[in-house]
Amino acid sequence: MTDAIEIQRLHKRYGHRVAVHELDLRVRPGTVFGLIGPNGAGKTTTLRTLVDVIRPSSGSVRVLGEDPQRGGAALRRRLGYVPGELRLDGRATGHRMLSFYAQVSGARDTDATLRTARELADRLGVDLGRPVRTLSKGNKQKVGLIQAFMHRPELLILDEPTSGLDPLVQREFLQMVREARDAGQTVLLSSHVLSEIQQTADEVAVLANGRVVADGDVASLRLGSVRRVRASIRTTDADAVRATFSAVPGVVDLEVAEADGIVHVSGSVEGAIDPFVKALARVEVHDLTVEEPDLEESVLRLYGDTSTASVDTSDRPDAATPASPRTRRERREERR
Ligand code: ATP
Repeated sequence: MTDAIEIQRLHKRYGHRVAVHELDLRVRPGTVFGLIGPNGAGKTTTLRTLVDVIRPSSGSVRVLGEDPQRGGAALRRRLGYVPGELRLDGRATGHRMLSFYAQVSGARDTDATLRTARELADRLGVDLGRPVRTLSKGNKQKVGLIQAFMHRPELLILDEPTSGLDPLVQREFLQMVREARDAGQTVLLSSHVLSEIQQTADEVAVLANGRVVADGDVASLRLGSVRRVRASIRTTDADAVRATFSAVPGVVDLEVAEADGIVHVSGSVEGAIDPFVKALARVEVHDLTVEEPDLEESVLRLYGDTSTASVDTSDRPDAATPASPRTRRERREERR
């Protein structure tokens, strides 16, 4: 079966700056593929080449079996696209704007498309009767999502689709993505938020400095296993607290400070959280936060300094464990 997206040795330079470096990527039809990476990793650049907003310096891109530079309107009709920086400034209402898109995109059944648009507007909670320029950033984003989903395209290309959405709406959006996959559509979404990729994607590629530093299925992705923790403990014995938490497996960057009868502990927990929770059970916890890992920190921690030329994580000791995502070299070798 033809891949929904096939990117081979994609290279994009802006002047001297290399935004995307010899990137290979395949997205199988009927799957959700997550592209994650810190700011400036090259996600937007990659997605823009797929919809022919920008053109590669070299390499090739195929979308639904076609070259985006030649596919024209016929190919674009089969796609739904949400750009990273969505600008909606018109006087038209959301409904009028979506009707216009439905007509120009040649939706086979405009009525059904607009019915879907209204259903999605209800689910996401946006008023399509208002001029789009008067909508808040988050509500504009919802209209952007609706225009991408409403004609039920074969392939959805979504660049940071949840930006500006509140958590409840994000959850609804992630459900829409799962439903799209269940209906046989393919979704490629970019994000710098780990959890939304983990909740939806079948496969993931981690991008840093324009290179794929790791890829694989979500279960094997170890990025999410680094959590930042902060606890306030009701005691004055900072030494005892330090001794307790420094003995917990996986705890790194531990900092302990006492103030006004509370000992503040912060650090990162790599791997299972359970030993840390068990250690907390032995003290009187005043406050606790467990944060989603910062993606940039996680990428650097797990894959080393990605600004170096080496992208081959198989050379790194921690990438050799069975739990690690397969590296580019391992995948190439598997395909041979
Ligand atoms: P973010 O999450 O911040 O949107 P990203 O992963 O989408 O980041 P890109 O926007 O693709 O990253 O940018 C990749 C690199 O290319 C960055 O270093 C960026 O500064 C650079 N870049 C992107 N667009 C241009 C441009 N039009 N001209 C010059 N440099 C650019």
